[in-house]
Amino acid sequence: MMRTIGLLGGMSWESSAEYYRLLNEETRERLGGHHCAKSILLTVDFADIEAMQREGRWDDAAHALAEAATSLERAGADMVLLCTNTMHRVADAIEAAVDVPFVHLVDATARRVAAAGITTVGLLATRFTMEMDFYRDRMRHHGVEAMVPDEPDRAIVHDVIYQELTQGRVEDSSREEYRRIIAGLARRGAQGVILGCTEITLLVGPADSPVPVFDSTRIHVETAVELALGGPA
Ligand code: GLU
Repeated sequence: MMRTIGLLGGMSWESSAEYYRLLNEETRERLGGHHCAKSILLTVDFADIEAMQREGRWDDAAHALAEAATSLERAGADMVLLCTNTMHRVADAIEAAVDVPFVHLVDATARRVAAAGITTVGLLATRFTMEMDFYRDRMRHHGVEAMVPDEPDRAIVHDVIYQELTQGRVEDSSREEYRRIIAGLARRGAQGVILGCTEITLLVGPADSPVPVFDSTRIHVETAVELALGGPA
């Protein structure tokens, strides 16, 4: 029996749309025919969440997202995915609020990096994800050291996410900047690069990097579909 995937999205909806497309494509690829994923998508208003991030109101965000996760569970979700890297800052509160499995994006991504034999990886993400401890510490538990760009490149990576990608804009000039920054990380010793923000996959992919690319959106989706079809979490 196929399990129902619960998506806690809207952060931003551009990446939630990508999650929805990818999880249905992945299910069709595995099962063929008319198969698609059983899923429930609950999107929050990203303007509210973005303000909480900017103002450092992480407890408020934890509360709001934990409540949203319980709604997903009540609606019949057999697992919960939080469709953003940044808000994994409050993943513990969300995980504690539900009885169904919480498919942790950072664990899924780190496992994939470690399985590729990579111990040092570049991380492109929001400033919160690149600079706070929650993400890099969690990676370290899997034996992976995450390396972030120096300033002013961190600011560029962050601003492209908030001023363009989460507002539906994909610019060639920003792709060039990301390519330059990825090449710089590889020169500094990154053996791979994590697209550690769920919208970055809209801008760059494997062709933009001299080292293997780990797309957190795709990895998260693949992990969920595996679980939905009865495989390991
Ligand atoms: N979706 C992005 C992420 O994966 C950034 C937007 C957000 O803060 O949720 O981190």
